[in-house]
Formats: sequence, C-alpha cells, structure tokens
Amino acid sequence: MAASAECDKLARRRSGSHTAIGGTTSGRWVAASTMLSSWCPALSGVLVEAPTPQNQSAQMAFQFQISAKMLHWPRKCACCCEPANASIRASASKTNGKRVRHTTTSWWEVPYCATCLSHKRAYEAASWWLIAGSFVGLAVWLIIAIGIGSGLGGFVPGALMFGSSIWPFTKAQAAARAQMKPTCCTPAAAVCYLGWYGTFHTFQFCNEAYTDEFLQANRAKNRSDVRRI
Ligand SMILES: [Zn+2]
Ligand SMILES: [Zn+2]
Repeated sequence: MAASAECDKLARRRSGSHTAIGGTTSGRWVAASTMLSSWCPALSGVLVEAPTPQNQSAQMAFQFQISAKMLHWPRKCACCCEPANASIRASASKTNGKRVRHTTTSWWEVPYCATCLSHKRAYEAASWWLIAGSFVGLAVWLIIAIGIGSGLGGFVPGALMFGSSIWPFTKAQAAARAQMKPTCCTPAAAVCYLGWYGTFHTFQFCNEAYTDEFLQANRAKNRSDVRRI
C-alpha cells in the first residue's frame, strides 16, 4: 500500500485502550513512530511486520479494509472462536523519508485463547531454525572459501550446514501444529494487520466465523467488500 502524506503525520504515539465492553473489546488504533537515520536503506518503503497467512500456510483468508480509529473485537479467540483469555498485537509498520527515515508502527490487540497463542508462537519460532541455518551455512562457506581461495570449495559444506536446519524446522512446525484444536483455523497468525491508508486499515482474518462476528460488531463502520484469498 502506498504511503501518504497523511500517514507521515502519524509520527507520534497515540493513546491505547483495551477495555471490555459487553462481548467485545474496544481496541483503539495505536501508532508509534521512530526516526531512523539513513544508514538503513533496507527499511525504505512499506514494511509489514506481521506474517501473512499466505506465507505461513495455505489457509484461506478473508481480506477487507475498514475505516476506524477504534474497532470492537469480539471476546473470542480469533483462531478457534472459543472464549478468549489472552491477546496479542497484530502490527504493521511503514517507513517514509529519504535522508531521515520515519518509521511508523501501529497495532491492534487481537483476542486469542492461551492454546492458540502457544501454537502461534511455536509455529513462528520454528523459522529461527532456518535463519540460524542460513547464517551458519554462509559462515562455513565464507571461511572455507577464504581459506582455500575458491568460492566453490565451501559451497557443499555450507549447503549441508543449511540443510541440516530443515529437519529441526519441520519438526518444530509439526510440534506447533500438534497443539492445534480441531476448531483452529491456522497454526500461524489468525489475524494479520497489513497496513493502513488514512483511517482505512487492511486486515486478513483466517477464521470465517470470527470474521462474521467482527464485521457484525463493527457494522457501523465504512468498509470494503470481503475478499476470499
Ligand atoms: Zn483459540
Ligand atoms: Zn488455534
């Protein structure tokens, strides 16, 4: 989503609230901004911190945009739709500016149950095996390549080192999936906040029943059609 001048003005922290109102939680949009110097050009453009359902699994998702500064979140778990007893932030960030980077992050508190919070965290933590394997594999490759003066020499040991991280990665993901209940919609994030433009916020929900309840609780807000993706 393209950045706008209006969004640039969000270089401030807004107050947040998380107050139960009947069967829903009113979650106020919270935005925070930090200034990064230009040493980090990789942070230019729109950054979305939250993992999307598509890149975590092949689950169906429901995407829509809704205009609001406060949203009502049904007090049910966004993953399994059972009563919620926990919450987690779904956040998005974007960076503007060329010489001085202005990074703005905003988030919503999404209700979860403790079980779904646990399998979500375990599933996402599994990726660290691949990240660690990449670093170690690259280091092995470079050390051998520098030692023998040839880039080809260290490739196979480096690749083997990376490959050795795949087995614990898949095992950790399987362990996370094993925690899922039959009513769970995804092992990863059940709600992804993809970003905002002005007062319009883009979400992807995985649980259809929770999506229906959320839209019903926020029926007074302007929103787009819901797309199945
Ligand atoms: Zn749950
Ligand atoms: Zn779940």
